[in-house]
Amino acid sequence: MTNFPTNKPHISYSEVRTWKECSWRHKLQQIDKIDTFEVSPFLDYGTIVHEACEHFLKTRELDLEKMAASIRQAWEKRGYDSDEYINKQKLIAEAKGNKPWPHNYVDSWVEWATNAISDLPAFMDKAFPGWEYVAAEQELYEAIPNDDLKFKGFIDGIIKTPTPRGGWRGWIIDWKTAPKWGWHANKKRDVLVTSQLALYKNYWVRKYNVNPKDIHCGFVLLKRDAPPGQTCELVKVSVGPKAAAKADKLVANMISSVRRGLFFKNRDSCKYCEFLDTKHCP
Ligand code: SF4
Repeated sequence: MTNFPTNKPHISYSEVRTWKECSWRHKLQQIDKIDTFEVSPFLDYGTIVHEACEHFLKTRELDLEKMAASIRQAWEKRGYDSDEYINKQKLIAEAKGNKPWPHNYVDSWVEWATNAISDLPAFMDKAFPGWEYVAAEQELYEAIPNDDLKFKGFIDGIIKTPTPRGGWRGWIIDWKTAPKWGWHANKKRDVLVTSQLALYKNYWVRKYNVNPKDIHCGFVLLKRDAPPGQTCELVKVSVGPKAAAKADKLVANMISSVRRGLFFKNRDSCKYCEFLDTKHCP
């Protein structure tokens, strides 16, 4: 056991991100253990597309039929296309003062996934010429400097590409499903977003004693509803010494603040928060 207020011996990037966005929300989720997890088409779609990317990375083969079947099974099991589910989502959005997302039926999700995964081989060859597989879904469970907690994470993909001088360059990549326009420029620059890859790189290079200069990072966006041939985009993330130190500092600040019991409500983060207007956060 640990003396950390969450009663867990580790932290993850998503926990750090939640804390940075609203430390009160982090307290509710991680310390008070108020479980608000709800399945959603976006989550299931993301999981299934990630599995398809992982399969491709390992085998260089596409299994579009299996992927489509997984999406249809999930939609059937969860009832995402039922009137009951559609109406419930509409009511939840309206109650929070948000515009409901337009409902997309399962055929659209299957089409988007098929287009994105079909684009992946050509995209990978163009973005990472000569790439070779190193690892997929690689677990990190590493000591945090100057602390007894561990940092836990899973790296979606690690590949290597040849350099002009006959060496190799490593790439840490993270698949992200995204809307058809991808990410706006401010999201691509958002330190809280890029810290995910900075932390993965920090812990991965320490684990394998690799020179950080030899490791590059990037998000691969897989866009829903984008035309075939335009579904994939590489968002490179530069993690130099400053960004690496900043990411470590973010983790240290989070740990220190949680240990001291400092929790604040950040009303700028409420829009899609599951605790909004509940007894936990009136
Ligand atoms: S509703 Fe707002 S203030 Fe309350 S926990 Fe959620 S993000 Fe934080």
